[in-house]
Amino acid sequence: MTDFTMQKDADGVALITWDLPGKSMNVLTMEGAAELNALIDDALADEAVKGVVITSGKKDFAGGMDLNVIAGMKQGGAQGVFDGVMGLHHLLRKIELAGMDFKTKKGGKPIATALPGTALGIGLELPLATHRIFAADNPKAKIGLPEIMVGIFPGGGGTTRLSRKLGAMAAAPFLLEGKLSDPAKAKAAGLIDEVATDPVAAAREWVLRATDVDLVKPWDAKGYKMPGGEPYHPAGFMTFVGASAMIHGKTMGVYPAAKALLSAVYEGALVPFDTALKIEARWFTNLLMNPSSSAMIRSLFINKEALEKGANRPEAPDQTVKKVGIIGAGMMGAGIAYVSAMAGIEVVLIDNAQEAADRGKSYSTGLLDKAISRKKASEEKKAEVLARITATTDYAALQGCDLIVEAVFEDPTVKAEVTKRAEAVIPEDAIFATNTSTLPISGLAKASARPEQFIGIHFFSPVDKMLLVEIIKGKETGPRAVAKALDFVRQIKKTPIVVNDARFFYANRCIIPYINEGIRMVAEGVSPTLIENAAKMMGMPLGPLQLVDETSIDLGVKIAKATRAAMGDAYPDGAVDDVIFKLADAGRLGRKSKAGFYDYDEAGKRQGLWSGIALAWPEADTQPELTEIQHRLMYIQSLEAVRALEEGVLEDIREGDVGAILGWGFAPWSGGPFSWLDIMGAARSAEITDGLAAKFGPRFATPKLLSDMAAKGESFYGKFGAGKVAA
Ligand code: NAD
Repeated sequence: MTDFTMQKDADGVALITWDLPGKSMNVLTMEGAAELNALIDDALADEAVKGVVITSGKKDFAGGMDLNVIAGMKQGGAQGVFDGVMGLHHLLRKIELAGMDFKTKKGGKPIATALPGTALGIGLELPLATHRIFAADNPKAKIGLPEIMVGIFPGGGGTTRLSRKLGAMAAAPFLLEGKLSDPAKAKAAGLIDEVATDPVAAAREWVLRATDVDLVKPWDAKGYKMPGGEPYHPAGFMTFVGASAMIHGKTMGVYPAAKALLSAVYEGALVPFDTALKIEARWFTNLLMNPSSSAMIRSLFINKEALEKGANRPEAPDQTVKKVGIIGAGMMGAGIAYVSAMAGIEVVLIDNAQEAADRGKSYSTGLLDKAISRKKASEEKKAEVLARITATTDYAALQGCDLIVEAVFEDPTVKAEVTKRAEAVIPEDAIFATNTSTLPISGLAKASARPEQFIGIHFFSPVDKMLLVEIIKGKETGPRAVAKALDFVRQIKKTPIVVNDARFFYANRCIIPYINEGIRMVAEGVSPTLIENAAKMMGMPLGPLQLVDETSIDLGVKIAKATRAAMGDAYPDGAVDDVIFKLADAGRLGRKSKAGFYDYDEAGKRQGLWSGIALAWPEADTQPELTEIQHRLMYIQSLEAVRALEEGVLEDIREGDVGAILGWGFAPWSGGPFSWLDIMGAARSAEITDGLAAKFGPRFATPKLLSDMAAKGESFYGKFGAGKVAA
């Protein structure tokens, strides 16, 4: 296999083309790096070569590092990672110095990169090591260093080069937030040097004109000073102190990547460039040896992508949706209509009254107007998307729909009637999906004449923002319905998980106990501030009390009443109800009523925790240990995930982990509940949950699966990581 090839022309320009065989996007492999190294050696040694242009044979430049490279390096332990990274540094540094005499900075050969499109991760770190970067005038191209998003940082010199090129402050959004830019913005920010219609031609021209001084990077020139100041410069001092505080404030110290990145920049800024690269490699090694980074890469990159590509799709012919009927144009229906129309699917949006249907459609108008004002969409695009949505009250319009998504009131009688009315019109082979959040699918399927074509497609609110869709199989749901749901989710570019039918399915089953545990603690007299901070310090995006304010306290009351009615004496959450019923009675319904566990100002902006909590539920004199609160909040979710697996609701731990992060923000640094349990270890977890169960009750009882795994020294990914565990 040849990833890189070189052609030398009569003018003395060597064109190196990166074109990974059999892939639509270039990623850097071990073999590729070795090939590039050999070609650079050849070009530098060949007297006929005056300069080099590196480009891609594909429409994009590169998507980043092949993650197998990282996995391969890790097999050699910390030394393996460090040596692997240093190998890459040597190659890039060779490109940067390009054969020049380091003392006189003369005699090097100019090397430029020409980016036809997207350049991410190592796909930008390599260009940053060259002397000039040309990008095609391609507004669709994305340029940046997104590593931080999957729990690592740019470890191929990108951290050191970019912070020295732009200064720590200007580099921060690209390094710390993984900000991506189109070529024009990348040029304005100083990430790349030029935007050209034909970047290869422009790069070639530049290479032929370049002189010795053009090849010397600022950090290799005499008297280099870091833009914005080094750490001991008064301005730099402020930047680093501020950045350190900001990172801790934002991540609560749970994301090792942000800390390691900042350390690499700070320590690197104090020493010469080559030592800085070594420091960067050390921090990168430190990070890769931290289980959080492997877990994040596994869930947020590898497994998320596998699920999106249909890892659990049953064998069935292509089920691409052409025309979707959405019944109920309320909050959810309107959102589902928008994402469907955006994906190019024809939409029939039905409600009881024409006004309601129109209001549902106008939700799309609003979102498109907002996108236009942010220059993310055009008037033509808006017209095109809106033209796909037919808002009506007439069920006859559902003729020809190959998929129905029902999002009417959460009432089985209404849903049954809607199912019958729709099935009277739609084609025999159409699939009918319900967006119910609480009603069992198998029960709702009783209203259907074709229960094998009946399925749950559970969206999260707001539909246009939330990335997860939970697909629920009822008892009689057939494989084609699952394939249809998965193909639909793929069309609308979301991530699916497929689960079996049980109370609250998967996501709500785990998140409700989290909220309830926080509320229970309030009733016990635990300080609400302590509860909220304990959750955030574990990496939960919202504390349980803020979360229930967001989802609304009356919804909590509604769910509590329905659950109590269904469970009778076995209902375990009386202590929780005392608190939320009291808040609901006082009209404190959460953010929407501008009063809940928190106070809100007139504009609905959250202020502090409500002082009335302490009056109704006085804080105990002795507060529990932070760790105990964190264990309660994390295990209450994770044990529920294990039970869902044990009971066969969840069939694949990959779905359990990806679904938890995307569905309710389960501490992303951990890779999800199963990854977190693996990080903790089954034995240690069982010991902790046994203790919690003894102190707080059977909701913490160690599931048999976990205690068996503890006894055998097993891990979830060791045991179930390869995929499905149940059919
Ligand atoms: P909503 O009250 O905003 O909208 C329901 C809409 O259905 C209303 O516009 C109503 O007029 C319409 N409707 C009622 N009966 C109808 C009928 N017979 N024919 C046509 N239209 C009819 O409710 P929502 O929040 O959009 O929820 C809808 C469904 O989605 C519910 O099953 C709910 O449990 C589920 N769900 C809600 C959320 C959420 O966060 N709100 C999340 C996931 C799932």
